[in-house]
Amino acid sequence: MLYFAYHDRDHDHDHDVLIVTMNGGYRVHRIPFSYESRQQRIDYLANSPFDLLIIGGGITGAGIAREAALSGLHVALIEAKDFGSGTSSRSTKLFHGGLRYLEHAEFLLVREGGREREGMQRLAPHLVEPLPFLLPIYRSMKYGKFAMGTAVWLYDRLAQVAADEQRVILSREEVLQSEPGLNEEDLTGGIRYHEYLTDDARCVVTVIRAAEQLGACALNYARCVGLVEGEKDGLIRGARVNTEEGVEFAIRAKVVVNAAGPWIESVLAMEGDASNEQSTPRILHSRGVHLVFSRERLPITHAFAIQTPDGRLMFIIPREDVTFVGTTDEVYDGELYQPGIHERDVTYLLDLLHGLFPNAQIVEQDIIGQWSGVRPLVLEPGKETKDVSRKDQVSIGARHLVTIAGGKLTAWRKMAEEVMEHVYEVMERQGHPVNPYHRERASRLSPLAPLPGSLQIPPKGVAEWAQCEIEKMVERYAIAREDAFWLTRRYGDEAESVLLCAKRTNGLARVEQNVPLLKGELDYLIEVELVCHLSDLVVRRTGLGYFGGDAAMRAISAIADAMAQRLAWDAARVNEEIAACAVQAYWEERDLRAQRLGTHAQSITG
Ligand SMILES: Cc1cc2nc3c(=O)[nH]c(=O)nc-3n(C[C@H](O)[C@H](O)[C@H](O)COP(=O)(O)OP(=O)(O)OC[C@H]3O[C@@H](n4cnc5c(N)ncnc54)[C@H](O)[C@@H]3O)c2cc1C
Repeated sequence: MLYFAYHDRDHDHDHDVLIVTMNGGYRVHRIPFSYESRQQRIDYLANSPFDLLIIGGGITGAGIAREAALSGLHVALIEAKDFGSGTSSRSTKLFHGGLRYLEHAEFLLVREGGREREGMQRLAPHLVEPLPFLLPIYRSMKYGKFAMGTAVWLYDRLAQVAADEQRVILSREEVLQSEPGLNEEDLTGGIRYHEYLTDDARCVVTVIRAAEQLGACALNYARCVGLVEGEKDGLIRGARVNTEEGVEFAIRAKVVVNAAGPWIESVLAMEGDASNEQSTPRILHSRGVHLVFSRERLPITHAFAIQTPDGRLMFIIPREDVTFVGTTDEVYDGELYQPGIHERDVTYLLDLLHGLFPNAQIVEQDIIGQWSGVRPLVLEPGKETKDVSRKDQVSIGARHLVTIAGGKLTAWRKMAEEVMEHVYEVMERQGHPVNPYHRERASRLSPLAPLPGSLQIPPKGVAEWAQCEIEKMVERYAIAREDAFWLTRRYGDEAESVLLCAKRTNGLARVEQNVPLLKGELDYLIEVELVCHLSDLVVRRTGLGYFGGDAAMRAISAIADAMAQRLAWDAARVNEEIAACAVQAYWEERDLRAQRLGTHAQSITG
């Protein structure tokens, strides 16, 4: 399909290449997605005219960037902090249809979620792990075995679940046989079905890299501080940006999308057009907390979905050597980047665990990780947060700012398609219709084009593929099996590129003995995934911040020192980075709890 590529002389950038296809041309830059290329990125963003600018680098903005780039648009994306640092790294990490939405007869939402979940096995099989879930049924629960069995049957049909993953109804004895630690009292049976576990923050960076490979240009730590108006028509034509280096510049684009998740109203306020108040949905923030325990303390073989007395579904999910539980759901109007974790959240989640696994005697001291996030829900006056639809809404403002509110991680690709329909409409209104061939190509490729790290992985055979890769890496590079496992998990078929980079840079040894993170992997993340700060690496690119427990906390100085060498940080900067990481990983709260409980948990905050 591609005819040829040549240097684009219209723009003074030696990294700017024009790709010419049978049906037109579009521009692809070749600036590495690396920390060291930030200035080049800033120059490029400041000096290139874009078709589309996206504000917000969570999963919603990432998906739109990919979709727009697939349709041949020249795309820019700016993120105020790190990619995925908002809600998109603090979810329950499930690609799911949303069984609970059936209660509100949201059949389309369930169907869409289920199908997108299935689609992720084609797009990024290494980022989704099918997990058997158990829904235990107790006499006191709102829905009994028949009602729940029927609901899950419908769920499987709507989501077109493969035969080997469809629901099975279990007797009380079968449930207890498979999960012997479960509370037996009033248990009547259970239902086994499947959902997919993911790594939300890695999904974000992977989708952004997919957009980059198609010519989009993304920058983290670049906040939109104002919108740029067209001189003649007063329409929104770009944004003023402030980077963390203190560089201020403007990005110009034909259309701007506000994908700022919980922050969309602050971007709308920059538009300053009161006439939008009717057309743009209002946001309701709801806070959700998760707690992490070692798998030894909660040795379950299934994930669990639990009907709670207040009419919600809670999840208990095993993930390698840990088990995590969540989430709470409470209206929230505080600071959005670092919503707190209160004693009542902890009590609520621990009570749930006590009820289900009384013999495990889980206590506060067992918590080894935690996080809290804010759902950006579309306000439905009079409804409780648990009853508010998770469906997104897209609107076009009077000055052509396209805004997306609400939504789910699972539906990122569908949401992107929907936003692009609105973008095409705006472009048409403005007299810049998008080539129909490109639109069609985008809709054909979007559900099929593999994300980075997935090209060589068979969609349904990821476990076998990973096994084979792990053996190969252990043999070729003499690394530990556990390290090889985490490399395939994090990077899919790019795992070997990580090792090659590691060999060229700081080597294949671990940064710290008990943490699955290689010295040279740090270099890879700085060079290929635009890691700028310690927290980017620890909390979002590797998940060690939430799931790594004491071992990750103990390793933090070693990781910071290794980054300091590469990025020339002085001692003061190292301390700042460690402190910021402790806040974002919720280690500070853990310290406080340890002090309150008088335990001797590892402290990094002094
Ligand atoms: C507790 C909890 C559990 C959840 N569990 C699931 C689940 O299991 N499955 C599921 O499908 N969904 C789940 N969700 C929902 C899902 O996580 C969210 O719908 C999704 O992550 C929202 O993504 P987003 O990109 O819209 O927002 P965000 O991820 O918050 O991204 C918005 C970004 O915009 C940036 N930004 C803000 N202002 C500016 C500015 N001025 N300039 C530049 N950038 C800016 C922010 O820094 C942020 O990174 C859950 C949500 C929560 C809170």
